[in-house]
Amino acid sequence: MSFLDIMTIKQILITSLLLSLLVVSSAFVPDTAKAQTETEPADNFQLQTYLTEEQALALIFPECDEIVTDEFVMTPEEKNSLEKLLSRRLYEDGFGVYIGKKKGSIQGYAIITEEIGKFHPFTFVVGVGTDGKITNIAILVYRESRGGEIAKKRFLYQFMGKSFKNPIRINKDIINVTGATMSVQCMCAGVRKVLGVINEYYLTSKRDVSGLKVANNHLVIPVKGETNKSQNTKTKENTSPFSPPSQGGDRGGNESDSDIKLLKQTRMIMGTFAEVSIYSNDEKTAGKAIEESLDEMERMDRIMSNYKKDSELSRLNKKAAKSPVPCNGELLDVIEQSQYYSELSGGAFDITVSPVVALWGFFREKGHVPPDKEVEKVLPAVSYKNIVVNKSNDTKKPAAISFKNTQTQIDLGAIGKGYAVDKALEIIRKYGISNGCINLGGNIYVLGTPPGKNAWKIGVQHPRNSGEILGYLELKNEATATSGDYERFFEFNGKRYSHIINPQTGRPVSGTIATTIVAPTSTEVDALSTSVFVLGHEKGMELIKKIPNAEAMIAYEEKDGKIAIDMTQGFKDKFKKTNE
Ligand code: ADP
Ligand code: MG
Repeated sequence: MSFLDIMTIKQILITSLLLSLLVVSSAFVPDTAKAQTETEPADNFQLQTYLTEEQALALIFPECDEIVTDEFVMTPEEKNSLEKLLSRRLYEDGFGVYIGKKKGSIQGYAIITEEIGKFHPFTFVVGVGTDGKITNIAILVYRESRGGEIAKKRFLYQFMGKSFKNPIRINKDIINVTGATMSVQCMCAGVRKVLGVINEYYLTSKRDVSGLKVANNHLVIPVKGETNKSQNTKTKENTSPFSPPSQGGDRGGNESDSDIKLLKQTRMIMGTFAEVSIYSNDEKTAGKAIEESLDEMERMDRIMSNYKKDSELSRLNKKAAKSPVPCNGELLDVIEQSQYYSELSGGAFDITVSPVVALWGFFREKGHVPPDKEVEKVLPAVSYKNIVVNKSNDTKKPAAISFKNTQTQIDLGAIGKGYAVDKALEIIRKYGISNGCINLGGNIYVLGTPPGKNAWKIGVQHPRNSGEILGYLELKNEATATSGDYERFFEFNGKRYSHIINPQTGRPVSGTIATTIVAPTSTEVDALSTSVFVLGHEKGMELIKKIPNAEAMIAYEEKDGKIAIDMTQGFKDKFKKTNE
């Protein structure tokens, strides 16, 4: 399936009034020329973890006896001016900054942040002294098969001692690493970003950091009670993507601590970021639930990946055209559910689009427009009706699946992530947890509500202006997912070809820009976001209105090329333009 695709990141904000998490999922369109889709070889992704957050902070602040955190969201004007200062676009709307102290006095600052390399983001930390000079720098996670040399000390050493007023230019101030130019460039830009933020917000005392408290553990955030929620601190709370959570609203200093904490962990799963956050007063149980739910999503990947040669799906794809293949458990379940959504959507949703997706180059090579003849040739293989499921009367025996067409292949890219989130949710529920959030590459389920709040807030990204938020969904015990033409696409002769295919024509869907669905389960929102994307505005809305508890927002292109946005009434009710 398309899990191990190119890594573009879409920003989705999950916020509660007192504590905000900026969650980054799999569809951020990098702001430079790289934005045009380059599909990546599946084996390009290599997770190389060098340091945990804890270790990184210990490295940056070896002498400090406490590390406090400060977070802020920039106003559009502030972001604009920072972008101008740095001469680049920024994907983040705010930052989480660590401040190292010794006997109460500030020793330095650090930001853990990401930059997109050729395909994948890498995570690094930059420590800056009170004099504005870099005290240390290290890579936490590198994710590409090439360019890993930038994690080496002898490369990073070059940044030491530099401050915001020093130029950081590749080949001039920083010696390039042959074969890793893109990563080196991104690192230079990332270092300047950190220096710029520290310089602008901390060294000039724009941020008042005197009232901050210590996080007792960098992964655990004490959440304050409802009392004393002052208007002016509220809007400033947020974290930068991937920055560890910290004490959002804790600036007043006189709120009463509650026992409830937020625990959160992120892993790369299915080629994207998987994040589980839980509010609980029982750290041990919550920690177990997080681990196990992440393991469960990894298990789903081992079953459903069509990049992993030994996954259950790969074995099925290899043999089912020749003879029936025994199939049971989750794979059978997700295939049967897919068949249901195919019927429901009149064939718009179809997990057999795989051969066409491959033809358009969305799997491995660079995207390209295939000759009509080639499309016509594989089109007969594309139909969910080519999948035959024979179930035995004996429920203990597996079903048998066969393909009617020799070229038929299954790709669960449009439903697998949602399905995995539902499985992870089962685990969390099993532990008796009633409050948390699971996010797998933008497929999000929110359980309960953050302490003292009525809902989770989830930012909906602007389909064209990356980094801009259209508004916020307020959700509780429900799921949301987005399919967007900005997530993966390529451009040819000025036309944009998206990765979502109309199974009837074998061609990328045009006209739809993005679809966001809200419904009770993650499987449902994942399947429906793709279905509605294919159906387009009118038919898509018709479909959603027929489904109880499903709500949708569709961004589409009107005939004159203008972008229009339509929402069902239920979606409107949950949607707020501002983060209040
Ligand atoms: P995302 O990749 O962001 O999760 P979707 O959930 O919409 O977005 O899934 C898109 C993926 O599903 C594509 O990359 C492709 O592998 C597959 N796909 C494309 N068109 C269809 C379709 N009409 N029905 C089912 N799967 C599709
Ligand atoms: Mg989908």
